[in-house]
Order: sequence, then structure tokens, then C-alpha cells
Amino acid sequence: MVIGAGVIGASVAASLAQAGAKGAGLRVTLLDQDQPGRATSRWSFAWLNSNDKAPRHYHDLNHAGMRAWADLAPGLDGAAWYRPVGHVELATAQAGRTELAARVRRLTDWGYPARLIDPAEATRLEPSLQPPARETAAAWFPGEAYVLTEPLIDRLVKSATAQGATILTGDHGRVTALADGRARTADGAEHEADEIVCCAGRWTPGLTAQASPASPIPLVAWDTLGATAPGLVVRVGPVTAQAPARLIHTPRLALRPHSGGLLQLEAPDAAVDLHTPDPELRRWASELLKRARRTVRGLDHATVVDYQVCVRPMPADEQSIVGRLPGAEHVYVAVTHSGVTLAAHLSRLIAAELATGHQAAELAPYRPARFAGPAARKGGARS
Ligand SMILES: Cc1cc2nc3c(=O)[nH]c(=O)nc-3n(C[C@H](O)[C@H](O)[C@H](O)COP(=O)(O)OP(=O)(O)OC[C@H]3O[C@@H](n4cnc5c(N)ncnc54)[C@H](O)[C@@H]3O)c2cc1C
Repeated sequence: MVIGAGVIGASVAASLAQAGAKGAGLRVTLLDQDQPGRATSRWSFAWLNSNDKAPRHYHDLNHAGMRAWADLAPGLDGAAWYRPVGHVELATAQAGRTELAARVRRLTDWGYPARLIDPAEATRLEPSLQPPARETAAAWFPGEAYVLTEPLIDRLVKSATAQGATILTGDHGRVTALADGRARTADGAEHEADEIVCCAGRWTPGLTAQASPASPIPLVAWDTLGATAPGLVVRVGPVTAQAPARLIHTPRLALRPHSGGLLQLEAPDAAVDLHTPDPELRRWASELLKRARRTVRGLDHATVVDYQVCVRPMPADEQSIVGRLPGAEHVYVAVTHSGVTLAAHLSRLIAAELATGHQAAELAPYRPARFAGPAARKGGARS
């Protein structure tokens, strides 16, 4: 059983269903309290990258995540959701230029495609860019991509169900209690399973605490005033000139194409949370549109089409949490930031662990046991 049909849960369900179809003897039920893909995954910037991930093992995990989507796309209608367009980053202040050069050096040492370019080449690669100032430093990351998460999750869920998985949504899929290898849903049904994979994004700690109260799954606070896990996502359009094709980062803006001729925007300094009043969100949305106009051409007639505060399921130590929940033998947890980059690769590793019982060495740094007290660790039979 898989709880949560965001990008992580939908990927895990598809990988498990595929393992089941190949004879691993698994029957998969995917539960979601809503329709699939309506929570964080829907609004994510969805940039597939390992551009600034540390330490090295976490960089490698994300890099493997990028490759996993490239592998998966041809067999999963990738034309509908996979956009391997590369990424142009611009840095203006001296400190930013120095940091960008150092990062490109480190990434190339690690075998990751990255190179410094001059502003003229940046404009050749992304003709929609407003001409950058002469002192601008730029870098090109040709292996990076983005995905459109709604069609992607749709394809993942269809792939899972085509291979025998069952999906339950709304009250039939809303897990209200989790204990002893059983999940109760809001419609009163009890679901028993040999394995329960909890992929409930930011709601994960509330569920896992029921199954094993002594095994915290600590996430950065997301529902309090001033919490840093939420981020503002803004969609603008139409673009009247040649539309941007690449991912673009400047010091004050992240921008990428979105479906329907829109652009999706974020800004690192947009300090909003789930309690920010709507006029303040609208003020930020207009500010991001202004920044986008200064970055690319063709937005003279654009307006803010949509905006949303969306929550990062950010583990307290910023590293993925993947593995068996100490103290609850049947519960396996998968919660992470960068979940869009990581989902295809993590889901393969998770399905292989569950199908074979063999522990993936690559996942050793990410086990939930790192947060558990000694009592819970002792109880976690298979962690
Ligand atoms: C602003 C922003 C930008 C981001 N940018 C990037 C990026 O560029 N690249 C990247 O890789 N990552 C990015 N991320 C992170 C990434 O989006 C997340 O890591 C990923 O979407 C998490 O997916 P998920 O499936 O774990 O969670 P979600 O998408 O939140 O899915 C969890 C699901 O669980 C369901 N659920 C919860 N509780 C229950 C319950 N009790 N019963 C049944 N179902 C339940 C929910 O309905 C939901 O469908 C970004 C995040 C944010 C907020």
C-alpha cells in the first residue's frame, strides 16, 4: 500500500506495480485524500538538477535522479511532460560571480555538465533574454531539465493502474489512522498490507507518529507564522515575443516555461507563509512579474494568471528520509525536498528493496533511524 499520490507516491506505486507485473508477487493500492498530484507536486518549480547539492552522496543521488527521468521519459509519453532544455544562470554582484565560478569548477570536477559562458553566449542560448550587463557572469548547465508535474503524475498513475494497482481517493483514500500494518480511511474501511509506504509529503510526520510514536520524522516547520518551508509560485502570461525555452536563474528570480504559454516564477527573497494575507501575496506576484520583464522579452502584455503558496516537505537536516520506520516493521517512509528530481530514481530503489529485501547501499545515509532514539531503533526489526 502507498499513502500519497504526489510525485513520490505516484512514482513508487508505478515502480511497485511494475515489479508486481514482473512476478514479484506485489499487489499495490495507492491512497490519496485528494485527487493525485494536487499538493506540493502540482506547484513545484520541478527543476531536475543537482546544481548545488551537498554533500557528495546527495549530489550523486540527485544526479542519478536526473538520469532516471531521462531513462523513463521515452516509455512514459515523455513528450507530454519531460523538458530537457538546459539552464542558464546569471550572476551580477562580485560575490555571486565568484560563487558561480567556484560552483561550476566543483561540478565539473564531479563529472556534472556545467561551464562558464559569456553574456553573448547566454543570449545565443536563450534569445529571449534581455541583454545582460557587460559585467554579468553566466553559466550553462546543459543536462538540467524541468517537468510538467500534472501530466507526469497522470502518466505515472495510469502506468500503475495499467499494471494492476488500485487507486482510492477522497474519503476512500484519506488515511485517518495507521498502526500494526493497517490503515483506516475516512470512509471507515480498514486496509491491511504487508508493506505500507508513506509518501504523504508534509503530512508524513502526523501519520508515522501514529505507527511509531518514538520515531520522529522531523520536517522544517511549515504551518507556523514565519515558517521557511512555504514558497510563493507565480504563473504569468501571455508571452508575445519569442518565449523563453530554458530554465533561467538570476540572483532575484527563477523562471521557466510552463504549459499554456505561461511562465512560472519564484524569487528567493519572497518571504511568505501559509498565513500571509492575500494583498501581500498579490504585491509579491506583481513584483515577480516586474522582475521577469527585466529578465526576458515579450511580457509587455503579461499579467499574473495564478499564484500559490506551496510547501516544501523539507527534512530537518535537508536530506531525504527514505527507509523503514524504526518501531513499525511494516511502515516504509519516503519524504524529501527535491522530490521531483529524486522521485524516479528513489522509486526504483524503494521498489527493489521491498521486492527483494536487499538494502540499497546508496540509501544508507538517508534512513529514518538517524532521528530515532535508542528504544525505537531497537524495535525497528528491518531498518
Ligand atoms: C516552491 C517550491 C519549489 C520547488 N522546486 C523544486 C524543484 O525545482 N525541483 C525539485 O526537485 N523539487 C522542488 N520542490 C520540492 C518538490 O516539489 C517536493 O519535494 C515534491 O513535490 C514532494 O512530493 P511528495 O509526493 O512527497 O508530496 P506532495 O506532492 O505534497 O504529495 C503528498 C500527497 O499525500 C497526500 N496525503 C497527505 N496526507 C494524506 C493522508 N492522510 N491520506 C491520504 N493521502 C494523504 C496528499 O493529498 C498529496 O497528494 C519544490 C517545492 C516547492 C514548495
